[in-house]
Amino acid sequence: MARLRDKEHQAYLVGGAVRDLLLGGHPKDFDIATDATPEEVHALFGNSRIIGRRFRIVHVRFGREVIEVTTFRGHHDDTEATTGAKRSSRGLLLRDNVFGTLEEDAVRRDLTVNALYYDSGSFEVFDQVGGLDDLEARQVRVIGDPATRYREDPVRMLRCLRFAAKLGFNVEKSSGAAIPRLAALLDDIPPARLFDEFGKLFLTGNAQATLRLLREYRCFEHLFPDSARLADSDGFYDRLLDAAMGNTDQRIRQEKPVTPAFILAAVLWPAVCERRQQLENQGEKPVPAMHGAGQEIVAQACQRIAIPRRFSMPMREIWEMQLRLPRTEGKRAIELMSKRRFRAAYDFLLLREQAGEDCSGLGAIWTRLQEEHGPIEIVDSPDDRRPPRRRR
Ligand code: ATP
Ligand code: MG
Repeated sequence: MARLRDKEHQAYLVGGAVRDLLLGGHPKDFDIATDATPEEVHALFGNSRIIGRRFRIVHVRFGREVIEVTTFRGHHDDTEATTGAKRSSRGLLLRDNVFGTLEEDAVRRDLTVNALYYDSGSFEVFDQVGGLDDLEARQVRVIGDPATRYREDPVRMLRCLRFAAKLGFNVEKSSGAAIPRLAALLDDIPPARLFDEFGKLFLTGNAQATLRLLREYRCFEHLFPDSARLADSDGFYDRLLDAAMGNTDQRIRQEKPVTPAFILAAVLWPAVCERRQQLENQGEKPVPAMHGAGQEIVAQACQRIAIPRRFSMPMREIWEMQLRLPRTEGKRAIELMSKRRFRAAYDFLLLREQAGEDCSGLGAIWTRLQEEHGPIEIVDSPDDRRPPRRRR
């Protein structure tokens, strides 16, 4: 910021960092807003590069930190010809590359509490949109008319709920009221962007609170339609999802690793169980039914949320291993414990039990077996990856 100011530019710390500092927390990363163009910023910092197409921003590297430097955006109320902003027929903002002033930049941001600008030279905070009042009142409020802002970018609905969950804030009334009405716009978001957003929603330590809000505001059904339908109608699935989120949050608090594979395995489990039952009713044996259901449900989920294969493969292994866990005798048990995915499958079994499924005390048996055998070397045979053979 000092280097930019030395060159007569404005430069402010903005977004989450200011919000979290004012709340006494630790910012996760630092975003800077400036009136310098991306080229001017790039020229001032050797360790920088310009990235992005829709939003051109500059990444400046300081040791292991990457600071995001964004040029103030201008208004996009007028036609494309005069401003360079482009909208789809449904109000979606397609391109948005007009530069502007701090005041214009502030009103383009999503939430008032995310639109505070800190000047490290004068130690002042600039607040154009009432963000300080909302911080005080502990509420998230969308800047401007919520419906218009959600139409411009439906992911803002998810961001609104995510920050409410993360900060423990209320959702301001009109900001919340528009969400269930417009939640269907999430169906148009590219699946790859939703996968990114999925990680922020469920793998940053507030998954349980976030899920509750996503369900309350009818967004969850647009991310995972089958899981939402089954969880709404069946107490077991409802508890399973809640427990999965709670466990993930707890692991993060304990600084244990978390993977999208495990949480997605839990989120899609209701749909997998339903499909597997249908296949069994049609005469499939349990193993191929689980295999087929896993394959179908993953393919279906990917149309909405692009789950990379490196996560969908382990998910399916976790599901398929649930069928092998009831065999706890002798050599078979040792063999199973030496599988790479065993630990996750065992955790998943505990999750099912925690949600109230009667698994005949299997969880406790596997806990004891692992204690008895101590650490077991992981040996994965190549045929682990082959689909199970159909038996006659
Ligand atoms: P954190 O990084 O702690 O999750 P953050 O508020 O910094 O929170 P980022 O995703 O890093 O969130 O975004 C930085 C800032 O960019 C936000 O504070 C907000 O002002 C703005 N912003 C991000 N996404 C959008 C969006 N979809 N619409 C409008 N403004 C946005
Ligand atoms: Mg940030």
